[in-house]
Amino acid sequence: MLSALFISLLVFSCLSLVQAAKVKCPTCNGAGEVECLECEGTGFIGDVETVECSRCSGTGQGKPNLFMSTMTASKMASTTDVNAVYINREDSEITATITASLEGHSVTSEETTFPPGQEVTVALSIPFTTYYSGTVLLTKVQMTVNADEITCSSCDGTGVVEEGTVCSECDGTGMITCLDCGGSGYVTEGAVVANTKGDGLDWGLIGTVTAVVVAGVFVGVAGFVFVKKRRVSESSLRRLSSSDFQQWVLKRLDGKPGSSKDTALGIDGFSRLNLPISIKQTDAVGMNAIDLFAASLARNRATGGIMVAFGFADDAIRGKVRARTNYRLNIEMMTVRELIEGRTSSF
Ligand SMILES: [Zn+2]
Ligand SMILES: [Zn+2]
Ligand SMILES: [Zn+2]
Repeated sequence: MLSALFISLLVFSCLSLVQAAKVKCPTCNGAGEVECLECEGTGFIGDVETVECSRCSGTGQGKPNLFMSTMTASKMASTTDVNAVYINREDSEITATITASLEGHSVTSEETTFPPGQEVTVALSIPFTTYYSGTVLLTKVQMTVNADEITCSSCDGTGVVEEGTVCSECDGTGMITCLDCGGSGYVTEGAVVANTKGDGLDWGLIGTVTAVVVAGVFVGVAGFVFVKKRRVSESSLRRLSSSDFQQWVLKRLDGKPGSSKDTALGIDGFSRLNLPISIKQTDAVGMNAIDLFAASLARNRATGGIMVAFGFADDAIRGKVRARTNYRLNIEMMTVRELIEGRTSSF
């Protein structure tokens, strides 16, 4: 088996030399990336701690993250009709039923499939009606997601994660782009032949390249087996300068920074889907801050925005409700902990 692998790689290497006039880059074994020198491939700078995964409390299993982004409730003649939009914040498909209940009366949806990162609207008609209406009715309707537990995506089911100051050079991956091949994994035959000062194919070189490739395969396998989820710790993020912190948040959200004009209006950047983002490197962000953000969003004619903070005060939810009532704005409150755990795909 091992020699078969070796021979097939040898044949493959020869073919790529002769036909494509390209060989695997000997520096990175064709991988296109090499170990990061800054952190020696560990992905971390300084101390690393293995801690219990906060999302699943170390069980490795958890309820899938099906997030309700908006909801409406209407009082009909004999029913209360609910429309709720859910976003699957996991990387894989979720199957679930949704239950809507109002003062002891409830209705459950059919089994519904939620593809990752997509919005799915669930419409339910509760066979009951009350004298409540509008926003009050909205607060009286209880929504429940019924789904089987899945493998925790924050820790890949291991129950533990490594926390520390993540290396900014490689973003915690431990690998950086190979400079010798520009990340392509290949160098042209001419370049290699020139190095060996010979004409045509150098069989000794092919053997060397192949051996390196085989070694690379085993390093790759070992690396795959032992890889553990890495993440930045909240405490190291608190210590960052405010511009570095903003940069980290924007990178996590796959976003881009705002212009100086945007910043003056309280918008620090924009998400992948172009939602304005306000970034606070503080705890207990409350209603006032959300009111201000909502007002500048309204001035910019945005439909919504994302507020990122270490934590939110109890009255923050009132700011969110007011933004919806006053400006029809949907403000997403996102904690740094959520960003660390990677719940960002749908923004
Ligand atoms: Zn976990
Ligand atoms: Zn590194
Ligand atoms: Zn290379």
